[in-house]
Amino acid sequence: LKGNGALSCFLPEMDAIYFEGQRLRADLRQALRDKQLTVVYQPMYLPDGSAVESCEALVRWTHPQKGPIAPNIFVPLAEDMGIVSEISRYVMDQACRDCASWPEPVAVSVNLSVHDLRSADVVGWVTEALEEHKLPAQRLHVEVTESFFMDDPAAVCTILERLRSIGVTISIDDFGTGFSSLSYLDSLPLDIVKIDRAFVRDIGMQSKRMKLLRGIVQLTRELGLTVVLEGVETKQQLALINKYGLADVIQGYVFSAPVSPTELVTLLSENSVRKEAVGGAG
Ligand code: C2E
Ligand code: MG
Ligand code: MG
Ligand code: MG
Repeated sequence: LKGNGALSCFLPEMDAIYFEGQRLRADLRQALRDKQLTVVYQPMYLPDGSAVESCEALVRWTHPQKGPIAPNIFVPLAEDMGIVSEISRYVMDQACRDCASWPEPVAVSVNLSVHDLRSADVVGWVTEALEEHKLPAQRLHVEVTESFFMDDPAAVCTILERLRSIGVTISIDDFGTGFSSLSYLDSLPLDIVKIDRAFVRDIGMQSKRMKLLRGIVQLTRELGLTVVLEGVETKQQLALINKYGLADVIQGYVFSAPVSPTELVTLLSENSVRKEAVGGAG
């Protein structure tokens, strides 16, 4: 599989996996051409569940033969193929268009790949999407993961600063799962920290996990950043989080799974929405 001179033993299954992978790559290119990708939205709520604050755009791919393929599979594949920015631009465009029809000031949160942040073009296409759909930048959040650390933090920082200067809110996604270096929290232009669901999963009243979570939340707030907890699934987790006041915003199945754009419009018309924007540079 790799021409690196390592001891190679060809198993028929390896060939099969290889060809399957090549096939999926070709299919993904086709999917981009044929617009097989769609976007769903997961609402994020105030901790008491009383209002929707923002919604995360999540890309979906239904393969014509294989059915739904998880973004955890095809997004890394697109990154490897060097075409992930095509996905990002597509999702950004849909997200800005959809958000412009939601009640104010509900924001949309779009995931960017670290590859998008390698080129200053991103500032251009984000601006284009905002202008085309007449969405104020204050209603756009972008999510980036800690993996930028494997890249060039200084270059990423410059691009994030430019996005922020036009009014876009910057979130750090899956916080605590990457390199987990705390040093960038005060040096990067950030507004929101989305703490990974790994920190929420096993919280019990006296657990070490709970102590860890409380520590991270306190630190984040000391730095003036908004705290989002991801992956809150149960009423018990929610009760503990609220008992200790650990979240500004909550995302998870306990309130809502990701829904289609149409379902979201219904959901937003039935729910109240947060009156003031959370976080944000603007
Ligand atoms: P993420 O950005 O951290 O998104 C949150 C993921 O957690 C979503 O999975 C969501 O459906 C799932 N989730 C939400 N609430 C819960 C919960 O209560 N419990 C559990 N167990 N899971 C929950 P999804 O949609 O499969 O996306 C997986 C990852 O794929 C995303 O993680 C993100 O890293 C990536 N991704 C999704 N859409 C995009 C996109 O448009 N662009 C890029 N670059 N990456 C994307
Ligand atoms: Mg995300
Ligand atoms: Mg996340
Ligand atoms: Mg904002």
